[in-house]
Amino acid sequence: MKPLARITILATGGTIAGVAPSSTQPGYTSGKIDINNMLQAVPNLAKLAQVKGEQFSNVGSQDMSFEIMIGLARRINELLAADETDGVVVTHGTDTMEETAFFLNLTIKSAKPVVMTGAMRPFTALSADGPLNLYNSVAVAADPNSWERGVMVVMNDRIHGAHSLTKTNTTAVETFLSPINGLMGTVIYGAIQYYRSPFRKHTNISEFSLEGVTCLPRVDIMYACADMPPDLIDCSVANGAKGIIIAGDGNGNMNEATLQKAAQMASLGIFIVRSSRVSTGTVGRNMEVDDDANQFIASDELNPAKARILLMVALLSKRSFQQVQNLYYSY
Ligand code: ASP
Repeated sequence: MKPLARITILATGGTIAGVAPSSTQPGYTSGKIDINNMLQAVPNLAKLAQVKGEQFSNVGSQDMSFEIMIGLARRINELLAADETDGVVVTHGTDTMEETAFFLNLTIKSAKPVVMTGAMRPFTALSADGPLNLYNSVAVAADPNSWERGVMVVMNDRIHGAHSLTKTNTTAVETFLSPINGLMGTVIYGAIQYYRSPFRKHTNISEFSLEGVTCLPRVDIMYACADMPPDLIDCSVANGAKGIIIAGDGNGNMNEATLQKAAQMASLGIFIVRSSRVSTGTVGRNMEVDDDANQFIASDELNPAKARILLMVALLSKRSFQQVQNLYYSY
């Protein structure tokens, strides 16, 4: 019989490790339970893989920092480069799951599976969703068909790609959707069905590297709204932002005053990316806004949070505005 895959679980915190005063109380604190206790709540894990747990951090993902993310990417790269690990699972809070997933998708240098998971109900809740999510994640990480698929997120029986998933509901178990590109697959009590591979570059075919990197350039997000004050952009640039993501209304729009301010900043070398506050759909170049004349970048399929991650990583090297635009079509 073939030996079982060797899977390391890196725990970072979140609701999956959260504790409430009782099993029916909605209020709770994220990041309280450690990985060993989490593993004990998952039956039959040892039948899926040889599992090792490692406590990496224990925070609610609202407190996920780039320092933790960079350290996490380094640790995963180290584990996957060694012969003893066949795949990695990361437990994480759901609030910023899509940001960490996309960051890892850009910076992991391996074709081996990297699967993230979390929970919407705390560890102590009635019908907690964490144990089954963890079981399914280990099954996905241990499957030889999961290689070369980039970073995936397994929640609620669904397998999402890091590029496409987004959190859509504040409390429901069915919170993650992949609205533009659709699901990568499904996993039901460990039985996996894949529908597609990633359309964009990722992990072992990504050009980005964290070698020598200790921090990332500042990029801010501006949420567009009716009669938006343009001086928010001044404030952001004065505080060191090298790029600004406009979470635009509709197809990446902003009012005339903000557009003028953004164009002025772009002419000074600040990277302006138009994304959208709308939860699904792409932002295309030169629709209602003249991106060519203003030297703006269109985020294509990336929502503001992920557009920000891509720009931060892109600005680690010197790149022209056109080169950065091309990255939004490639990742
Ligand atoms: N606030 C929590 C977190 O992101 C929510 C969750 O995990 O579902 O850590």
